[in-house]
Amino acid sequence: MAQSYDMIVIGGGPGGYVAALRGLQLGLSVALVEKERLGGVCLNRGCIPTKALLSDVEGIQWARRAAKAGILLGDPDVDFRAIMRRKAEVVEQVVSNLEKHVTGAGVTVCHGSAGIRGPGEVSVDSGEVLRAKHVIIASGSRSWVPRIPGADLPGVVTTRQILQVDKAPERLIIVGGGIIGQEFASIFSAVGSRVTVLEALDRILLGVDSELAKKYLTLLRGKGVSCETGVRIGEIIKTNTGLRVIYERKSKEKTADADLILMATGRKPFMDGLGIEDAEIRTENGAIAVDRCLKTSAEGVYAIGDVIGGRMLAHVASYHGEIAAENVAGRDRSREDNVVPSCVFTMPQIACVGLTEEEAHAAGRAFRTSTFALSASGKAVAMGEQRGWVKLIEDSQTGRLIGAHLMGPHVSEMVSGLALAIRSGMTASDIADTIHPHPTISESIREAALGFLDGPIHSASRTKSQNPT
Ligand code: FAD
Repeated sequence: MAQSYDMIVIGGGPGGYVAALRGLQLGLSVALVEKERLGGVCLNRGCIPTKALLSDVEGIQWARRAAKAGILLGDPDVDFRAIMRRKAEVVEQVVSNLEKHVTGAGVTVCHGSAGIRGPGEVSVDSGEVLRAKHVIIASGSRSWVPRIPGADLPGVVTTRQILQVDKAPERLIIVGGGIIGQEFASIFSAVGSRVTVLEALDRILLGVDSELAKKYLTLLRGKGVSCETGVRIGEIIKTNTGLRVIYERKSKEKTADADLILMATGRKPFMDGLGIEDAEIRTENGAIAVDRCLKTSAEGVYAIGDVIGGRMLAHVASYHGEIAAENVAGRDRSREDNVVPSCVFTMPQIACVGLTEEEAHAAGRAFRTSTFALSASGKAVAMGEQRGWVKLIEDSQTGRLIGAHLMGPHVSEMVSGLALAIRSGMTASDIADTIHPHPTISESIREAALGFLDGPIHSASRTKSQNPT
């Protein structure tokens, strides 16, 4: 006998579990089907484990420079297994808390792989059949690896597998210089691996303001990480001592050797076994197509998070989860996800929201930028973290803030205020007229805003105007 609910959610990641909990808050009866553990990629093998590792390696970095502060710790002895053990404990704690919370709140959690078998009918491979007028697909994404000869050799791994290694490789090659690749470069270079990043594009950190990405590249190389852009990988072969990547750069054949190769080459929506075609759910560029309310082409079926493509971020998936659940409950909400903060948890961190300079150019906007270097921030100097910048972008006609790009300590904690400023249509004067606490890194945001007015107090002005071409 099929069990009936108001709403069935397929996938228990940050999209799916948030949709389920929001549905409950709105009085719906909810079943959630998950084939692995609740929490999805984010909690089990993405955001949370990487941030646990990054938090530990920040400690290593701090210990290495402690002598300068008169704290004589010697060269830190890094126990990689212990770091990985703590990472696993963090994941266990966060995931089991979530499991308790979701079931305790009243969501019926079914374990297994689910597929849509007919209008309002979902079957689970455990044999259960569930019925509901509304189904939310939140099946997420998986690593995508390009077809490179040798990419299937032992020792060539995805982000999921590298999070399970029990020994840091002596030599690590990371194919892909995007956000995830750079976070792993930060982790493994700090634990002592010799890291080489190979990126196909002529820049790293696609999506990040290119000026900041260039500055980060300089810092990265200064830390001894080798990073080559504009490469075309030919093949990966096994050698007597490990693995070799054969690639071409500027028409020259080159090689790089490693003990482990991480393919950080992107993610693709995951739709296997969902019955997408039979349910006549339209897809576009390999992702489920949805409208502003997150409805798919099939009656009563919504899709959220990574499976709809676009910005594959946990907070976007969760935001979608809330919107879709509210629409199921009869509210008429459209998503407004054009102001999305995104953070790179490298050392130093990068955090961005709104338009980059390149995007403002492409949109034909007349704009001005103002940059403030953290070397002029007393707090940054006190922290020994002067390598950073705040760059704001304003629309020249309206004076409204349209982009904010930060690099420095804890900037991931500061970008939400700037997202609010952009969403609320605030101007540089609004920020400059707001008293910021001293001494903080966030004062630098106000200093950058002053750059659009009479100039910052603690450094010379660095503003630049750009008119549409
Ligand atoms: P997922 O988290 O992928 O969850 C989908 C769930 O659906 C999975 O648990 C899967 O098992 C389940 N499922 C799939 N098909 C079925 C089925 N047929 N039946 C039952 N269950 C099914 N984002 C950030 O915002 N910040 C970060 O710092 C960050 N770091 C990351 C680091 C790494 C290494 C990676 C890989 C990703 C990171 N991300 C980060 C991205 C983030 O993890 C994803 O954007 C987010 O998890 C997407 O949420 P989701 O709910 O759409 O899908």
